[in-house]
Amino acid sequence: MKTMKAVVFKEKNRIAVEEVPRPAPRAGEAVIRITTTTICGTDVHIVRGEYPVKPGLVLGHEPVGVIEELGAGLEETYAVGQRVIVGAITPCGQCFYCLNGAHSQCGGALGGWRFGNTINGAWAEYLLVPDARANLAPIPPGLTDEDVMLCPDIFSTGLSGAESGNIRVGDSVAVFAQGPIGLCATLGAKLKGASLIIGIDSVERRLEVARRLGANVTLNINDGDPVREIKRLTEGRGVDVAIEALGRQETFESALRAIRPGGTLSSLGVYSGKLVAPYEAFYAGLGDQKIVTTLCPGGKERMRRLMAMIATHRVDLTSLVTHQFALDDIQEALDLFSHQRDGVLKVALYPHAARAGVRETVAAGERDELC
Ligand SMILES: [Zn+2]
Ligand SMILES: [Zn+2]
Repeated sequence: MKTMKAVVFKEKNRIAVEEVPRPAPRAGEAVIRITTTTICGTDVHIVRGEYPVKPGLVLGHEPVGVIEELGAGLEETYAVGQRVIVGAITPCGQCFYCLNGAHSQCGGALGGWRFGNTINGAWAEYLLVPDARANLAPIPPGLTDEDVMLCPDIFSTGLSGAESGNIRVGDSVAVFAQGPIGLCATLGAKLKGASLIIGIDSVERRLEVARRLGANVTLNINDGDPVREIKRLTEGRGVDVAIEALGRQETFESALRAIRPGGTLSSLGVYSGKLVAPYEAFYAGLGDQKIVTTLCPGGKERMRRLMAMIATHRVDLTSLVTHQFALDDIQEALDLFSHQRDGVLKVALYPHAARAGVRETVAAGERDELC
């Protein structure tokens, strides 16, 4: 039996790089050789045991790679050796939810999220892609792995916050939290035509990136209540759309207080425990407000659209890729990412790279662009 290197979830706070069986595709499935992947905030929750997965599962849900092997029925559409990405969400395209347009909920609640959740994920040398015809998205010529590395999850999710908020040309928008997803929501608000985009965070460096990606005002929560300032900037009304990109009671509440009557709260955060809407911010339930939630849209058509924005230079996310590691150095990468050290936004992981070489490249100065 062929094996491969992969990062396996062992138990709460313990992962390990191990040799595991290499997958083989059945009809309609494909195996890709992972060339680049990354770490998501959700992975941190999983490793800490805050989101349960089975011990023995290979983690990671952001694959960039090359088609290694095709199952029956795919030869006419794809070729071995083709460079592809696959969304973090892999809808089947055929079930009740998919055919009702809720692709991320494929098969049931959150069911479209399979990689590193219900099936083996992308922190490995090889990845089995289910429903390959719906999910393998060829990378346009000329784009690097790092160019498209944020499409499977972060760009898709962040942008979806702006899309679900139904931002219209000339809208005012506040984006609460400017981590990688919040930054992509800020960019999404710009792409959707918002006139006033307010980025909110506590980290000055992130606010600086927010200004580069589209925020025309940034507010540091250490300087005082952002809601009061948002009201002041919008003639006392509040914004048309607020996007929540953290998943905490405080930011949810601030986002709710920040929208005008009839406005929309578009929520991207992953919450735990009970979430409370205060009576006065909710206008006692009579404020014509909309609260919408979105799980990362996936599937190959979504990926094609996102990569088209990058190929035509309408979007450039490479400044968010701040650090690079070999997959063997996952512990170090995870430690850096989860503690937000050294100005990290996203780390690139290379399953086939030797350990030391990758970090030397970073030390040589690629990171300077962001700092
Ligand atoms: Zn993710
Ligand atoms: Zn489905």
